[in-house]
Amino acid sequence: MKIHSANFIISNTDVSKCPKDQLPEYAFIGRSNVGKSSLINALTDHKKLAKTSGKPGKTQLINHFKINDEWFLVDLPGYGYAQVSKSKRKTFQSFIKDYFLQREQLVCTFVLVDSRHEPQKIDLEFMQFLGENGVPFGIIFTKADKLGSSTLNKNITKYKKQLLKTWESIPTHFITSSETAMGREDVLNFITEVNKN
Ligand code: GDP
Repeated sequence: MKIHSANFIISNTDVSKCPKDQLPEYAFIGRSNVGKSSLINALTDHKKLAKTSGKPGKTQLINHFKINDEWFLVDLPGYGYAQVSKSKRKTFQSFIKDYFLQREQLVCTFVLVDSRHEPQKIDLEFMQFLGENGVPFGIIFTKADKLGSSTLNKNITKYKKQLLKTWESIPTHFITSSETAMGREDVLNFITEVNKN
């Protein structure tokens, strides 16, 4: 997919204020610092579309970007950081939850996980939540350039084994690097294909 346009539309914490257009929507979420903003910028070929994090947990909004006037890319708040107070974390969880449960245009959620790390409880629980609520999702392994290919393969294999403890099959997944653009076309082609159907 060639990106002709990528425009910020709206940020909010209320699913009822999200754009009313019926365009298909793809959401990106993951633990803070997973490389979400970098990936969004790499996918859209924009250096600063999503703000790369100075402070983890700073952006706690649902951010809509319109891509090629054809689909929405939705940048959701990172989860699982310590600096946000408990009450704030609760609000953020409830509006995120509303988003997943109510947003009809949502076609697929990409859960980002750092390819360097062991499977994390918070990510697995989050995928569980999506699965239980019938929200289609894929997994994007990030920062692949930080590992040699054998360690990368080992980590991905380990992750898949972990997933098979819960899931009958491995969800759609992509191995990416925002530094080298690895996996960029794979993610964009997936979106193109899903949009056709
Ligand atoms: P976010 O909090 O999930 O939005 O994460 P950011 O995109 O701000 O990235 C967090 C840190 O990881 C930054 O220092 C990025 O430069 C770095 N980073 C993100 N993606 C990659 C990647 O693919 N490769 C490498 N080497 N570093 C990355």
